[in-house]
Amino acid sequence: MAQEQANNDAAEAADAAETAPQTSPETASPETKPAPEEKSPRSQQPGRSRTSMRNALRQMPSWLVSMVLHMVILLGLALWSLPPGITDELRQLIVSSGENDEFDDLEEIDDDPLEDIEVTADVVAMDAPIEQETPEISPAEDMEAAAVQVELSEFGLEHAPKNDLLASIGAFSGTGLQGRGSGSRAAMLRQGGSKGSEKAVGAALKWLAAHQMPDGGWNFNHAACPQCNGACRNPGSGVQARRGATAMALLPFLGAGQTHKSGNYKQTVKGGLYFLVQSMKMDPRKGGSMFEPAGSMYSHGLGSITLCEAYAMTHDKGLLMPAQAAINFICYAQDPVGGGWRYAPRTPGDTSVVGWQIMALKSGHMAYLNVPPRTVVMASRFLDSVQANGGSHYGYVSPAAGPATTAIGLLCRMYLGWKKDNPALQKGVTWLSKAGPSPGNMYYNYYATQVMRHWEGEEWEKWNAVMRDQLVNSQATAGHEAGSWTMHGDHGATVGGRLYCTSMATMILEVYYRHMPIYRKQSTEEEFPE
Ligand SMILES: [Zn+2]
Repeated sequence: MAQEQANNDAAEAADAAETAPQTSPETASPETKPAPEEKSPRSQQPGRSRTSMRNALRQMPSWLVSMVLHMVILLGLALWSLPPGITDELRQLIVSSGENDEFDDLEEIDDDPLEDIEVTADVVAMDAPIEQETPEISPAEDMEAAAVQVELSEFGLEHAPKNDLLASIGAFSGTGLQGRGSGSRAAMLRQGGSKGSEKAVGAALKWLAAHQMPDGGWNFNHAACPQCNGACRNPGSGVQARRGATAMALLPFLGAGQTHKSGNYKQTVKGGLYFLVQSMKMDPRKGGSMFEPAGSMYSHGLGSITLCEAYAMTHDKGLLMPAQAAINFICYAQDPVGGGWRYAPRTPGDTSVVGWQIMALKSGHMAYLNVPPRTVVMASRFLDSVQANGGSHYGYVSPAAGPATTAIGLLCRMYLGWKKDNPALQKGVTWLSKAGPSPGNMYYNYYATQVMRHWEGEEWEKWNAVMRDQLVNSQATAGHEAGSWTMHGDHGATVGGRLYCTSMATMILEVYYRHMPIYRKQSTEEEFPE
């Protein structure tokens, strides 16, 4: 009985991409926020502006002075009495101003910056109104405020070394992505990877690179790519979801430590990042959206993970603002009532879309971006609303026990701070372990593999042996398809085609170094034995 429900649930979850509504975030989301106060510290040049202000005041009739004063007081009161959500969002915009001087040090590391990825005119337009809201605090205070927010959120504190918050923000040590360096990657491989799995990852990256479109992005219909021209079978139907496809193609490169600044695929990754950044729609109040009708908030979540990871790994200053803007849009798009996310911004959530947004927040946190604690708390509340059996199982939009949704729910719980001794977590992991990897449902496999990897121990070893060999043995080896995968039994495969299957399979095979295990103490020391 539970299993039947579970299957329906997983199908529903995977179906999500297919049934994305054709609404744009603009039409779907009524704006309720008041216009921010006009108060630009940048226009206040000391001395001169003060004198001109005094002159202006002198020339005004007294009734006008009184009216202006009252308006300012009323606006102040209105802002003060706004619901916490709105003030948080305003603060979020304030903190995320592009003027982060403390990141200037990082420029030295930029040997090959994204100089072509100019922050577009739209992005600049976003910057201007944000500056008007910037309070008069020094950059140092600004930075401190951001660090405290990370600490308060307890978001991922379990995985990060305790000294993280004391480390200089430019050091980027202990971010949870450190397994991707070439030396540590070899060490991490010993924890479950094999020669076969690494060879498979190498072949997959080659296939992905060969199916990049001339504009730098990817298409779920890989046959549209001139180099392929239909030589590979199983194209996806989601031809409009270009941002989602591009993010899915880039993530395996980043997972293998390949960025636009180092590795064998610099130009490939650069082209993809360029495609994502230039397609981002900036709004001063909402952030930077990668939402697209065909890919909905899935595309935005995937794109956000990509930008945050690329930024965290390279410290490329050109990616800082797009990555923070992407996180800001996730905060904006959260359902203000239930705390979830779904196809369109600010609508009641489902576990499938929520999973990608929480992964993105996690990536943003690892990149030292500002992730408001309130967003994280609200996301936990959404998980509460779909959990069953005390939190060991999760449904799609209501309490149930679907395999894919349970795997997503448990991974989110791990990221949101559940400890390893949590009975519900233990129960859920045992349930997944008994079920084992699915022969075709890559969506379930992707999340469940990560749960097992963080859990470690016997359950992980048992899971990994089956999962790894199943993927290594099912990879295409002949013709243009060599290095790719196609699976049946996953609704995402219809929309995402061979590109989706290949991306998911590759990320599963990168699990040994893609993220550091959450529950391991001092993973940095263990990573370099002797
Ligand atoms: Zn092909």
